[in-house]
Amino acid sequence: AGGALPASVRDDFPIFATRPGAYLDNAATTHKPRQVLDAIVGYYSSANSNVGRGYHTLGRLSTDLYEEARACVAQALHVAKPEEVVFTAGTTDSVNLVVDGLGRRLVGPGDAVLVTGMEHNSNLLPWRRLAEETGARLLVAPTDGRGRVDREAFAALLGPRVKLVAISHVSNVLGTVNPVRELIADAHGNGVPALVDGAQAIPHHPVDVQALDADFYCFSAHKIYGPMGTGVLYGRSDLLADLRPTRVGGGTVKGVSATEPVRYVPVPHRLEAGTPNVAGAIGLAAALRYVDGLGRAAVRAHDEDLVRFAVRRLSGLPRVRVVGAPEENPSGIVSFVVDGIHPYDVGGHLDQHDVAVRAGVHCASTFLDTLDLVGTVRLSFGVYNTRDDVDAVARALRTVRPGFWTTEHPATRFL
Ligand code: PMP
Repeated sequence: AGGALPASVRDDFPIFATRPGAYLDNAATTHKPRQVLDAIVGYYSSANSNVGRGYHTLGRLSTDLYEEARACVAQALHVAKPEEVVFTAGTTDSVNLVVDGLGRRLVGPGDAVLVTGMEHNSNLLPWRRLAEETGARLLVAPTDGRGRVDREAFAALLGPRVKLVAISHVSNVLGTVNPVRELIADAHGNGVPALVDGAQAIPHHPVDVQALDADFYCFSAHKIYGPMGTGVLYGRSDLLADLRPTRVGGGTVKGVSATEPVRYVPVPHRLEAGTPNVAGAIGLAAALRYVDGLGRAAVRAHDEDLVRFAVRRLSGLPRVRVVGAPEENPSGIVSFVVDGIHPYDVGGHLDQHDVAVRAGVHCASTFLDTLDLVGTVRLSFGVYNTRDDVDAVARALRTVRPGFWTTEHPATRFL
C-alpha cells in the first residue's frame, strides 16, 4: 500500500525473489530491474565487440549501441549535443576528471575553489587535494541548522580569486535540494564555471542541464537502477574541449607517428581512452528508459508519499528525531537519530529485523560535524519501496536499545 507506483514494480527486480527484506539503502546503490539485466546480457550475447575500431558488422553494431546509449543520456539530461556526454566510471571519476583535467589549469597559488558544506567526499576530496597541491584555498559555503546552503553566504564567498564552483544538487545525507540554478547563476555572475554533483538528484528529479545552466553535471548509473562502474560527465562543449585528458591511449588519436605531434580526436572520445564500459552504458540507457516508462511524475509522487509517511511515522516514535526538513522537497531520503543510541547500533538492530539502512556519516563527515552529529540513520527509497517497508522500520525501532557502539563510543554529540 502507499506510493504512486504500483506494487508490481517490485516484480521487475529479481533480487527480491531471494532477498525479500526492506531495502532502504538506495542512496548507496539501487537494485537492478530485469530490463537492465536483460540489456546487459543481451549486449554480451548478441553484439559484444570493441567500439570505434572494428571494421566488421559486430563492431559497427556495438558502436551504434554505445552511441545510442550516449544519445539516450543526452536526452535524459536535456543536453543539446550528445558529444557533451562523456562516459566515466561514476560520479567520483567524473569529478576527478574535471579537477585534474581543468582544475589544475584554472587554479593556481592564491586562488580558490568554492564548495558547499554538505559535499560528499567524492565532490570534496578531489578539490581539497587540488587546493593543497596548487597552493589554492578551499572555501566552504556554510549550511544552516536544517542543513541547507546559505545562499547569501555562498554569494559572499565568491570573489576574483574563486576560479571554480562545485556543488551537490541533492544532499546524500539529508536529501536537501540545493537551489543549484541560483548558485550557478551566482558563479556565472563571478565569471567562473560550476560543476554539479547530481548523484542523488538523478533518481528523484528530472534534470535539465540547459535550464540549470550547469557547466558540468556528474552522476552514477548505479544510483538510478543501472550498473555499477558506469557514470556520466556532462560538460559544456567549449569547456570539455579545454579539458586535458587525464588518461590517454587507444581510441583517442587520429594517428600516431614516432616523430609527428599526436593528433587527438575530438571530445567525447578523446576523454574515453581505452575500451569503454559499453555494457555499462547500454545498461544505463536501459535504466533511464525504465524510469521514463514508470513516469517521472509517478516516481516523484511516490517519493513524496514515502518521505512524508516516513517523517510522520518516525515523529510518532519516542526519542526519534528526523534531521533537516526532508519533506520540503522530497528526494527519497529521510535521516534520523535516536536519542541516546549510536546510529551504528540502530543500523545493526534494523538489520536484524531485515531492514537495510545506512548508518554513520555517509561519506560526509565534515557535514555531520557542522550538524553536530556523530552520524545519522538514513532511509533512502527506491521505486520498489512501499509504506510497509517504513512500517517495518517503525516496528523495529520500538525495541531498539543501546548497544556496542553506544557504550564503546559514548560520544554525546548525537544525543
Ligand atoms: N556524490 C554523492 C552526493 C553521492 O551520494 C555519491 C555516492 N554515495 C557520490 C558522489 C559518489 O558516487 P560514486 O561512488 O558512484 O562515484
